[in-house]
Amino acid sequence: MTNTAARPQLQYLHDALEELKAKNQYFHLRVLDGEQKPVATFDGKEVINLSSNNYLGLTTHPKLRRAAIDATRKYGVGSGAVRTITGTMKIHMELEEQIARFKKVEACVVFQSGFTANAGTVSAILGKEDLIISDELNHASIIDGCRLSRATIKVFKHKDLADCERVLKETENWPGKKLLITDGVFSMEGDIADLPKLCDLAERFNCIMMVDDAHSLGVLGNRGRGTIDHCGVHGRVDIQVGTLSKAIGAIGGYVCGSKDLIDFLYHRARPFLFSTSHPPSVTATCQAAFELLDSEAGEKLIKKLWANTKFFKNKLKKLGFKTGASETPITPILVGDAGKAFEFSRELFAEGVLAMAIGFPTVPEGKARLRTIVTATHKRADLGHAAEIIGRVGSKIGVV
Ligand SMILES: *Cc1c(COP(=O)(O)O)cnc(C)c1O
Repeated sequence: MTNTAARPQLQYLHDALEELKAKNQYFHLRVLDGEQKPVATFDGKEVINLSSNNYLGLTTHPKLRRAAIDATRKYGVGSGAVRTITGTMKIHMELEEQIARFKKVEACVVFQSGFTANAGTVSAILGKEDLIISDELNHASIIDGCRLSRATIKVFKHKDLADCERVLKETENWPGKKLLITDGVFSMEGDIADLPKLCDLAERFNCIMMVDDAHSLGVLGNRGRGTIDHCGVHGRVDIQVGTLSKAIGAIGGYVCGSKDLIDFLYHRARPFLFSTSHPPSVTATCQAAFELLDSEAGEKLIKKLWANTKFFKNKLKKLGFKTGASETPITPILVGDAGKAFEFSRELFAEGVLAMAIGFPTVPEGKARLRTIVTATHKRADLGHAAEIIGRVGSKIGVV
């Protein structure tokens, strides 16, 4: 039976959607036809794609594709169980060891996604007698993990070390454990956390230190080792989380740290215990991706990513756009009003550029923006062309 629309129980959802439409916050999903590439076809239209997290172009890399196909031939399509029952395959263990070596830590555990890695870890290691000190722009998966832990949550102003210290001083005699948690690169701003100073604070006030490196693996640090490497704080961050879904090009999340931390998560992290492990194709893809990262070919891709980033940021600045405090390939184009941001994005699409508008609740009300991300595989000519179109449409609708 498909005729559920008329049932009154869910009328309130329909009403909520109507309200979103009235506020110009309703969207349709853009549907990708074919591969995730710098020039790609969405909703039947070929556009320059400035909205993927595919930093190094690995989603379609021949070596990764080969690894996925070979693993499927060899091991099948699924793992058949959660990790703690019969769903731990040898390649799962090998990938974890490989990531730990790459990150220069004792141990690593892979989760189904970056979201479950964050949510599963914070909720496992803290309880309601504990305290979390969190940057106000931390990712939703951190926020959800904090809530699930039932610990007390204190938020400090974005990257504001004085405000962070104020919170730490006010809670100096907190009886439970304390966790200081931050994104390494902030996903909507593209700025980098001041990890050396945050580590100083964590050490001074006796906090567990945790960093989410979703947007810095494959982007920052020696061969893309992330913000811990970029900021020179090896050994000072207790818990490093990251994703296998962005620069790595596949899907998954990981947590890196001490053997005890990882062993504890094996025993207590709920997504690890209660949700099935990755299929062999995903794990083999990630193994191939880390092998590539830790090679000269990987270095070359990262260099290209940064050259493209500088080129594109310069273009946007020359056109007069406000791009906030970004220091990474994530470059927001600040608009303010959500309606206007969505209009900007729609017009750009019509002109051949995909740059998604981001509004509430992903960013605060009144801080809507277009979020652009260039990749290593964008062609200069396409980036130049995209900037030219953004400039033209932006001035037409009054953003610059
Ligand atoms: C994307 C993202 C995640 C979630 O990663 P997935 O693998 O997509 O679930 C977590 N944290 C940050 C900062 C992110 O940007």
